[in-house]
Amino acid sequence: MDIININDNKLYYVGGVVRDELLGVESLDTDFVYEGNAIEFAENITPHPSFAQLSGSLCIQQGARENPIEILQINEPFGTVRVRIGGHEIDIASTREEIYERKGHLPTVTKIGCPLKDDVKRRDFTINSLYKSVATGEIVDFTGGLEDLKNKIIRVLHDESFIDDPTRIIRALKFSVRFGFKLDKHTRKLQEDYLKNINYDMCYKRIKKELIETFNLNSQAAFETFIKDGIYKLVTEKKVSLPRVNIEKLINKILKQVQDNKVQEWNISNIWLIYAGVLGDLSRLPLTKTEQKILDDYNSVGKPKTDFEIYKAFEKVMPETVIIYAILKDEKAALKYIEKLRLIKISLNGKDLQEIGIAPSPKYQEIFDYVLKEKLKNPDLSKNDEIKLARKYFF
Ligand code: ATP
Repeated sequence: MDIININDNKLYYVGGVVRDELLGVESLDTDFVYEGNAIEFAENITPHPSFAQLSGSLCIQQGARENPIEILQINEPFGTVRVRIGGHEIDIASTREEIYERKGHLPTVTKIGCPLKDDVKRRDFTINSLYKSVATGEIVDFTGGLEDLKNKIIRVLHDESFIDDPTRIIRALKFSVRFGFKLDKHTRKLQEDYLKNINYDMCYKRIKKELIETFNLNSQAAFETFIKDGIYKLVTEKKVSLPRVNIEKLINKILKQVQDNKVQEWNISNIWLIYAGVLGDLSRLPLTKTEQKILDDYNSVGKPKTDFEIYKAFEKVMPETVIIYAILKDEKAALKYIEKLRLIKISLNGKDLQEIGIAPSPKYQEIFDYVLKEKLKNPDLSKNDEIKLARKYFF
């Protein structure tokens, strides 16, 4: 078998990892591209100690010879391969050319194993189009990405970029917020033009993925740009205006409170959905059942006024629902629930009621509600007090 040395000068780091290294920030993942067919490349490499030079983070132990490269997954149509090397899983893509036969959807691969200078054409922004040779560390820059990185500019590679793939509009927002970059003037104009004439026949699974990554940054600035620049129009045709509440501040305040009073878990695991939920119409996005429930619950909350009504309205819903309610309807009521009411629980249960001679019946719920109302007024009530109240109510 041919031994292809990793010093093969056709293997490159590409995209985010190169950008992030130049910016001096930590990278979320490491993408590789092979100038040629990555699957054949992976099938032909034998472990070689020089793999240790692959990357600091992907360093292979000296024992690499006994720890062969394992092909985990092959995606033939895209020419990508996932391999395990020295305990790390990495993806290697073949250089490829693509065309957008159906705008807004996944592109069709027209050539696998093209020269690097053609692979670059399918990429989104100049700052994401840098290659770094694994063998020599040399940076290959076909599009002026280095200059744009220096000037903190996000620039598309061609005028059809957003028409081909509108998810790039959200990606641009995500990167601009993450790195404090600005859209180049012409790129901004292309974005504005696209947003005036959106082709709604697009892949909303990919839009959702980018929304998740953008809104999970929990950035009010990102959200304000999303609304003010009309990027939200990709998601809904309804008019959306910026809520009065600063969502980032509100979420941070709540997260801090939850951390401080460790009495009860209150997991906010879908920060992105709080921002997206504020749009009021996510019917185009493929939501999970839980995500849909969060929004449906918000729509059925009504207008609780008394402590008891507030408690009952939010008792069984997810934290995200309560926070969306705080942003769009009644911040005071929602905060009262979050900060105070949700921490109050009655200790009385069915067994206690049976013990004091009340046979199981629908009356139980009435009794629990009565005791809860009293406990909301006076959270210091002991279990004995609650039992006394139950007696008083029933007998
Ligand atoms: P992150 O740090 O968020 O992972 P990234 O740049 O690595 O940023 P990925 O989504 O992992 O982003 O994509 C890797 C690379 O693939 C990008 O740097 C870019 O070159 C290319 N790419 C990703 N999505 C698109 C897209 N929608 N259109 C064109 N190129 C894309």
